[in-house]
Amino acid sequence: MSLKGKVAVVTGSTSGIGLAMAEALAGAGANVVLNGFGDADAITANMDRIAAETGVTLRHHGADMSKPEEIAAMIAFAEAELGGVDILINNAGIQHTAPVAEFPPAMWEKIIAINLSSAFYGMQHALPIMRRRGWGRIINTASAHGLVASVNKAAYVAAKHGIIGLTKVAALETAEEPITVNAICPGWVRTPLVEKQIEALAERNGCSIEQAARDLLSEKQPSKSFVTPEQIGGLAVFLCSAAADQITGIALPIDGGWTAQ
Ligand code: NAD
Repeated sequence: MSLKGKVAVVTGSTSGIGLAMAEALAGAGANVVLNGFGDADAITANMDRIAAETGVTLRHHGADMSKPEEIAAMIAFAEAELGGVDILINNAGIQHTAPVAEFPPAMWEKIIAINLSSAFYGMQHALPIMRRRGWGRIINTASAHGLVASVNKAAYVAAKHGIIGLTKVAALETAEEPITVNAICPGWVRTPLVEKQIEALAERNGCSIEQAARDLLSEKQPSKSFVTPEQIGGLAVFLCSAAADQITGIALPIDGGWTAQ
């Protein structure tokens, strides 16, 4: 499967799932704009490593996904530096856990902005470019929490349910065009975002980190194994393939059975 000549923008791709999706798309031949925070030397090292392994061109844009004007600038940067945007992966996300009655309002606003509104702004700027170029793939990283809820995750669950609704609308609006819009719904993936939750559980239960990881899995994920970032990278490449031309508007779980329950 070749994505040679395509340009992908992957938000939140300096770490975890986004980085793995960027690597997988680069492996399939796409040039990639990485986005996200982190140590500048580590970001450059990742770009150099992926470029050496795949031969594609990579750039990094540090847009803050809570700022619509920076999202517009990131899409313009992709077009100016790499010639367009063919694949947009709206993946940046953060988490905060607290009961509704105690949920800090500023954290609610921040999670809705980064995990939901950023996907709207990204699509708004990328869709005209995809239409001009006559092909497009949009993949929104939702979550099992886009399909079912858990306690203490009001903003995250609301944003992830919201991004699935946004995905469906954009898929219907582009249904007759060579553009697809889908959401993917991972279960537990052991990234820095989840490591924090494992550490909190270990602290609460007075157990080891590895015991807490097992407890976290057995509560929700019937496979009792973590989904790997590489598996999600493979799924993203599949959704960009011709085999997926007629897959649009779905919310696809990759969750070890979590949402089958
Ligand atoms: P992560 O913490 O490893 O990566 C998050 C990325 O988003 C990083 O690159 C970070 O720099 C970036 N980011 C954070 N705030 C940003 C902002 N304001 N602007 C730009 N970039 C920002 O987390 P992850 O687990 O890889 O999460 C990636 C996505 O996958 C998120 O949307 C998350 O909700 C979703 N997800 C994760 C899991 C899981 O188990 N890890 C499960 C389902 C869904």
